[in-house]
Amino acid sequence: MHAILLAAAIVLVQPAPAARDDAPTAVPLLLDRMAEAVLSADAERYLALIDPTEPEFAKEQENWAKDFVERPAAAFTLELDGGLLFEMDGGNAAIGTLTMRWRMPERPERTVQHPARFTKRDGAWRYGGEAWKRVEAPDGSNVALYLDDALRDVAASVIELLPEVREHVNAGFETPLDHVQVVKVYAEMEHLQASIFLSYEDALGGWNEPGESIKILASPRSPARQLRVLLAHEYGHVATFSMGDRATEIPWWVAEGAAELASERYSGRTGAEAVDRMIRQLAEQGGLADWDQLSDFRNTRPEHGMLVYKQGQHMLGYVSGRFGRTARNQWIARMTRGETVDEATRGAFGMPFADLDREWRASLLAATPGDESEER
Ligand SMILES: [Zn+2]
Repeated sequence: MHAILLAAAIVLVQPAPAARDDAPTAVPLLLDRMAEAVLSADAERYLALIDPTEPEFAKEQENWAKDFVERPAAAFTLELDGGLLFEMDGGNAAIGTLTMRWRMPERPERTVQHPARFTKRDGAWRYGGEAWKRVEAPDGSNVALYLDDALRDVAASVIELLPEVREHVNAGFETPLDHVQVVKVYAEMEHLQASIFLSYEDALGGWNEPGESIKILASPRSPARQLRVLLAHEYGHVATFSMGDRATEIPWWVAEGAAELASERYSGRTGAEAVDRMIRQLAEQGGLADWDQLSDFRNTRPEHGMLVYKQGQHMLGYVSGRFGRTARNQWIARMTRGETVDEATRGAFGMPFADLDREWRASLLAATPGDESEER
C-alpha cells in the first residue's frame, strides 16, 4: 500500500455552497464512468471525463488511454477514500484521496493511492489528475510538482538545477527551447509506473514522451548529482523529441542513446569511460545486439534493456566524435521527421547505416579508444 496522507496539507477556505453541493454524488459517479470507459477500452469516452486544462496532463492521459485500448485491463476500479475537500475557485475544485485498483490479464492486482483533484467545467465534474503542490522558478521558466511535503526541498532543487541542465542540453542538441518545463516528482515507483500506463511494470527512475511533463522518481534524500543525471536524461528526450513531429517513432536505442549522452557530463567522466570499457568488452565477447533488436520499445527482449541505453549511448558518442555535433543532430532530427535510420545515415553522413555499423564495430576492437571529445 502506498498511503499518501492528505493530512493538513490543503488549505481550506469556505466554499461556495451551490457548486460544492453536487460534488459528493457527482464525483463518485464520475469515477464509475471513468472505470467503465477503461474496462470497455473506450479512450474517447474516458478522455471526455478528464480536465484537459493542463496540456501535459492531457497528453499523458491521452497516451495512458491509448495503452488501455491496446492492452485492456482485466479489472479496474476507482474509489474515493474519505470525503472531498474544496478549494477556492467558487467550489469548482475538490480534492479527495483516490484509490486506483487494477489487474492486467494474468498479472497480480496493483493498487495506487494519491490525492486527486476534480474540477467542475461547463457544469460537469472532471478528473484533473494528482492534486500536486508546486514550486515555480522566479522567472516562471520551470515548474516542479510534488505531492508529499517531504519532497518539497527536492522539488526546489529541481527548480534550481534545471536552468543549467536545460542550457547544457539545448547547446548539445542545438535546440533553443524556452517553453515552461513541468517536472513531476514522484515518491513511489508504483505511482510513477501507473501514471504512464496501466500495463507498465518495468523499473524506472524517470520518464518523458513528446508533449508530456518530465517525470522523475525521487526521495527526500536524492542528492543533487543524481537529480541532475535524471533531469539531463529526461530533458535530453524533450530536446530530441522537439526536433520533429514523428519523434515517437525513432528507434528506441537512438532516443535512449541521445538521452544518456545528454546526461553524460553529470554522470562524471567515469560514466563515459565505463560505458566505453563495457561496450568494448561486450564487443570482444560477441555480446552486443543487432540494432533492430534494440529499436522497438514494445518488442525488446528484457536482457537487451541495458544495451538499448548503453550500446545506444556508445554509438551516439561515436557518431558525435566522428561527424561532429551538428551532423549528429541532423541525423537525429531526420529520424524524428520519419526517416529510417538508414535514410537518416545516408542523408546526414553520406553512407548506408550498415557501413556505419560495421565501422563502429571495427572501432570497438581497435587497440585505442575512439574519439572521446569533451563536448558532444
Ligand atoms: Zn530515457
